[in-house]
Amino acid sequence: MAIQPGWGFCNQCFVMFYNGYSDKGVCLGGTLGHVMEGERFELPHDVPDNPHAQEEWRFCVKCSAMFFNGYEDKGHCAGGHGHDCGGSFNFVLPHDVPDNNGSQEGWFYCKWCKSMFFDGYHHDGRTGICPAHPGGHEGQGFNFVLPHYDASGDPPPVLPGQVEAPPGGFTGWGHAVEKPKEKRKDIFPSDPKRKPR
Ligand SMILES: [Zn+2]
Ligand SMILES: [Zn+2]
Ligand SMILES: [Zn+2]
Repeated sequence: MAIQPGWGFCNQCFVMFYNGYSDKGVCLGGTLGHVMEGERFELPHDVPDNPHAQEEWRFCVKCSAMFFNGYEDKGHCAGGHGHDCGGSFNFVLPHDVPDNNGSQEGWFYCKWCKSMFFDGYHHDGRTGICPAHPGGHEGQGFNFVLPHYDASGDPPPVLPGQVEAPPGGFTGWGHAVEKPKEKRKDIFPSDPKRKPR
């Protein structure tokens, strides 16, 4: 299965965003882009969809959030206008299945901005910052259950003399080390067979 690590929850705006670039996208909660907190998610892409996994979730090249690209209307992007999938992978995200130690439920499609956001703080009235709705994101439809790093069975690497993984969490991942000089198209290759949307 094709899986991309490097995804995480933004503790400012509550969206799922790709944290693998030095550019942290556009976040309405802070001028330096999204800020990751908690689990390090790794998300399946370019695999067959099924009744419990929805395709056409994409990385937005403008705001770095995960958004649903299945409609003509591309939602509202924190970077202005609609989201733009560029040459993103086609993520196929599981929903309405039991969660476990390696996954987290409570992720929803926002009906206003079309981003994926975490609705787990709904009970205390916190639903993040939505570019399209003053009251915050509002979930609709499937309850997505997203796999995180620990699902691989590999414990996060601990270097000698180090108690925890370094801040940012990516330096020990090998294949997911940040490469600031690398162009985006190298990580999100365009598929020539895929028609532009
Ligand atoms: Zn954010
Ligand atoms: Zn966007
Ligand atoms: Zn929203």
